[in-house]
Amino acid sequence: MLHLPLYLDYNATTPCDPRVVEVMLPFFSTQFGNAASRHHSFGWQAEEAVDRAREQVASLIGAEPNEIVFTSGATEADNLALKGVFETYTAKGSHIITCNIEHKAVLDVCKHLEKRGAEITYLPVNAEGLVSPQQVEAAIRPDTVLIAIMYANNELGTIMPVKEIGALARQHNVIFFTDATQAVGKIPVDVNQDNIDLLAMSAHKLYGPKGVGALYVRRRSPRVKLSAQMHGGGHERNMRSGTLNVPGIVGFGKACALCQEELQPDAERLTRLRDRLEKSLLQIDGSFVNGSRQHRLPNVTNIGFKGVDNEGLLLAINKEIAVSSGSACTSASLEPSYVLKALRLDDEAARSSLRFSLGRFTREEEIDYVVKKLGEAVARLRELSFR
Ligand SMILES: *Cc1c(COP(=O)(O)O)cnc(C)c1O
Repeated sequence: MLHLPLYLDYNATTPCDPRVVEVMLPFFSTQFGNAASRHHSFGWQAEEAVDRAREQVASLIGAEPNEIVFTSGATEADNLALKGVFETYTAKGSHIITCNIEHKAVLDVCKHLEKRGAEITYLPVNAEGLVSPQQVEAAIRPDTVLIAIMYANNELGTIMPVKEIGALARQHNVIFFTDATQAVGKIPVDVNQDNIDLLAMSAHKLYGPKGVGALYVRRRSPRVKLSAQMHGGGHERNMRSGTLNVPGIVGFGKACALCQEELQPDAERLTRLRDRLEKSLLQIDGSFVNGSRQHRLPNVTNIGFKGVDNEGLLLAINKEIAVSSGSACTSASLEPSYVLKALRLDDEAARSSLRFSLGRFTREEEIDYVVKKLGEAVARLRELSFR
């Protein structure tokens, strides 16, 4: 039995895994302590639970527990990384290298920093949605303080050459930050193998709760310093004050542990389902895939349908199927996605594209239903436009 509407928008957010909800529950009621309360067992219990979660989160990305700073999500982690480095390393310079398909949580912070005197290089991606290590190296200057390149793009699923960019950053003594919100939990990510100094992640993109995330901050070779953006009680080694969201953090930890255990089989299953979906949708006349198909997350495909407007297409299917056109923040406007435009798609092609993102609870019957519905909807819309 199919349950409608079907959800194929896992890159926007994921449901909490029931196993995650279960471990969170006691921390709303009986184990409600403040992790910073040092003088009684309520506090100790909460602190112990946070410590365990910190190990689980760190382990998923090959980090040490004391390198994890809990935040309210990836947006806050992005803000802390960019503003924190910009404010700390002013003596060296104020040049930042990033790319033009970063998430708005990076691009909008960069725009803000420009008003504060930062100079930002926005590297253009190629038609596949990738920046090359050569582009990054050519942009490095003596006053470059940060390279900020995302691990995987949220709209396309394309995976950047992070390891190579990280190696270059290290070689040139520049701090390397990556927004890995879409990569962590889906593909192997290791801050040491990938030469990453700062990494943003979010629980609700990997079957944890909303409103919690983390910034990984390298402690050794090099030790990265950040100025806090939230001041108060000095929590999280002074980098992020505020009482810890204990239930959220516990759920985040459990979600990371589950991803670590199930990453390989999940990735294989999702690749198979995604490929089945993509292959079938490509049978529709005039359909095409956006972004690299080689360097890509297992769960995403972004597909255009020539001559069909995605707003109309969404209207035709969105009672039964949840997918997205571009990212959640721009989908309300008529502007085509800036990510697709960065691939140098013309407006019409960009406006004909949809993102399908699959996840842990996607089943084969759902894929087959989506294929059938989309085929019908595209055919109907094309018929209408020829009248
Ligand atoms: C979802 C997402 C964010 C924002 O994460 P929140 O935890 O919702 O603030 C940032 N970057 C990328 C790449 C994302 O996909």
